[in-house]
Amino acid sequence: MSSLTRTLSRTLSRTVVRAPLSRPLPSLQPILPSLSQRRNASSKHPKGFTPPSQSDLAELRERVQDFVRREIPEEVAAATDKSNNFPADMWQKLGDAGLLGITADEDVGGLGMGYQAHCVVMEELSRASGSIALSYAAHSQLCVNQLQLNGTAEQKARFLPDLIAGRKVGALAMSESGSGSDVVSMRTRAVETEGGFLLTGSKMWITNGPDADLIIVYAKTKPDAGSKGITAFIVDTRAEGSKGFAVLRKLDKMGMRGSNTGELVFDNVFVPHSHVLGPVNGGVRVLMEGLDLERLVLSAGPLGLMQAALDVALPYAHSRKQFGTPIGQFQFIQGKLADMYTKLQASRSYTYATARAVDEDGVIRTHDCAGAILYAAERATECALDCIQILGGMGYTEDMPASRILRDAKLYEIGAGTSEVRRMVIGRAFNREYAHLSQ
Ligand SMILES: Cc1cc2nc3c(=O)[nH]c(=O)nc-3n(C[C@H](O)[C@H](O)[C@H](O)COP(=O)(O)OP(=O)(O)OC[C@H]3O[C@@H](n4cnc5c(N)ncnc54)[C@H](O)[C@@H]3O)c2cc1C
Repeated sequence: MSSLTRTLSRTLSRTVVRAPLSRPLPSLQPILPSLSQRRNASSKHPKGFTPPSQSDLAELRERVQDFVRREIPEEVAAATDKSNNFPADMWQKLGDAGLLGITADEDVGGLGMGYQAHCVVMEELSRASGSIALSYAAHSQLCVNQLQLNGTAEQKARFLPDLIAGRKVGALAMSESGSGSDVVSMRTRAVETEGGFLLTGSKMWITNGPDADLIIVYAKTKPDAGSKGITAFIVDTRAEGSKGFAVLRKLDKMGMRGSNTGELVFDNVFVPHSHVLGPVNGGVRVLMEGLDLERLVLSAGPLGLMQAALDVALPYAHSRKQFGTPIGQFQFIQGKLADMYTKLQASRSYTYATARAVDEDGVIRTHDCAGAILYAAERATECALDCIQILGGMGYTEDMPASRILRDAKLYEIGAGTSEVRRMVIGRAFNREYAHLSQ
């Protein structure tokens, strides 16, 4: 045991006394930085946060790789894709490993390790299975981190421990069949009634929707007020008042199969006042504030998929012989491998530099959060196509994971905002910066 780990273990025993958790400590907690070193890097981090060192992050990566070797071997990834079913016991396993509350407060069971750490976990899970990782991110970033950032102390104490332990599944529902990129045009309504609100409408493409116990749902509370009339609600799908909630259907997708995606219906679902997340009519701020960090953490998904493509292509290219020579020694194939590697490393540098600026300097730059996922997502699709080409006929079969990697990678050019919208977001950020020159 290193002296760092010993210090961290002592730190932990102090943390446990403060944290009345009803579950064993997550196995990753011993790499928390010591309390004495902590500072608050930004309003997006737990109080007392200290950025993890690069060696903490390397240790975290090794632990996630161990987890993946044990729990998400290729057979599990392939079966998840084929069956289009999320392995339900994975939530508990992710919770036991401490992976579901990477950015959340320690006193509700989180690790408080920040966004670089969350990217590390997301990258390594995606390397094993794009779809399990996507569901993971919908739970740990879109739901858990949104509650962490916007929940009251009571809401966090009530909802986060079960989500972080993997006893409950989380989701976030913003998109509707008629409003995807133009999310503010949503039609789901919430009308105030005694003790709370009644929600009516439907939501489309909701990751984890078919399994979710808790969903953060955006609805119009002042339909004529545009972006100033939307509120975020925490919907407990198992509550008495949620009888009007239903999963209309689970979607049959080309990729990310097994990350259960659903169309959801809300018919006069009662949500008590205590479940309003953030201010009434202040939902767009809740939504937009979450989007930068959501884009950043999700940009690690394509990184894992690019690494997965190299994991398949490199050994294949060096063992497959044609014309008496390993195909990896032909210059056309070498060029593809070199391009794949370079795209991965460039994308990785962009994501982690952006995450480090968030953790260490408290700087969240919209251009870079959108830029990191825009760049990585498009490169991942290219790498997956190159991987298929390197594998030749085997790449075109479902016997190898190459086609799954391609089908999963394509999602990142669409989900969590399309490539076009990301370019628009970056362009608009520049328009704001240079507005004084257009007067
Ligand atoms: C697998 C999956 C999981 C998802 N998970 C979730 C989830 O958990 N929660 C959730 O709320 N949503 C989720 N979504 C929805 C996702 O965020 C939307 O699909 C996405 O924002 C795009 O919206 P849309 O599908 O309506 O496309 P549209 O908005 O109809 O866009 C269609 C095309 O038009 C382009 N376009 C639109 N507007 C412009 C413009 N102004 N300028 C230029 N081009 C434009 C788009 O880029 C795209 O190419 C998920 C989607 C998928 C596929």
